[in-house]
Amino acid sequence: MTKIDPLKLTESIWDYAPSEKSSHMSFIDFDSYLVMVDTGMDVDKTREFRKFAEKTTDRSFKQVIITHYHGDHTFGTNVFKDCEIISTQATKDILAQKVEGDYKDKNIILPNKTFSGEYELKEGNKTIKIIETNGHTKGSAFVYLPEEGAILTGDLLFADMFPFAGDPTVNPYEWINALQKMIDLKPNIVIPGHGNISSIKELEEQRDLIYDLVKSIEIMAKQKLSIQEIKKSKRLPKYPYDVHENWFNMTVERFYKVIKEKEEI
Ligand SMILES: [Zn+2]
Repeated sequence: MTKIDPLKLTESIWDYAPSEKSSHMSFIDFDSYLVMVDTGMDVDKTREFRKFAEKTTDRSFKQVIITHYHGDHTFGTNVFKDCEIISTQATKDILAQKVEGDYKDKNIILPNKTFSGEYELKEGNKTIKIIETNGHTKGSAFVYLPEEGAILTGDLLFADMFPFAGDPTVNPYEWINALQKMIDLKPNIVIPGHGNISSIKELEEQRDLIYDLVKSIEIMAKQKLSIQEIKKSKRLPKYPYDVHENWFNMTVERFYKVIKEKEEI
């Protein structure tokens, strides 16, 4: 049996991440039933988490919210075959393609309830809002519990880490707007996709990190530097933590492509 040690973070939210940098999975005690937010990558751990949740609260899961399509948030969906699985339409569309391709062996359960824009669940005096922003991926959304001032960001926040921003559908401008939208909600607690439990400060830091990087690439792109020159440039921002070279290079390439399309450089 895999040992897991979820943490109760608010009146309704429990959270667990298998290691310091791996993806978070959370559940919301929605009074008469449970709602899962993201399902992790290691199916055994997800199964243990589900058992823990149902035993601790004496309630069952009815719904699962998927913040975006990446495997470290969706491989555990097969532990929730009996639940309604909710995502944005864009997330379902991309995931449906991945299931035909490199996620073929993963036994993913596709969302069976989709929306675009915003979606709300209400139960007694509790509300769960799911807000689509794009950014980290097309279709990325965050989860907001207004009564508790809590946000579950999905991978719109990598707390105290350089974010994975190398997805083919990444959009740094929409990502900055997403982080600003979360900051404007003035949350008391922020549960990131990866990294430590956070607050507004980490949202601001991630917003500034993406802003500074995209601005520096924009300036060099306008000066007609090639992508190879930009990737090697000493004018790119520096970071106070380890940055995986591949992630960083992918990020610069993707941001450059979005900038070129936007600015018609
Ligand atoms: Zn992700």
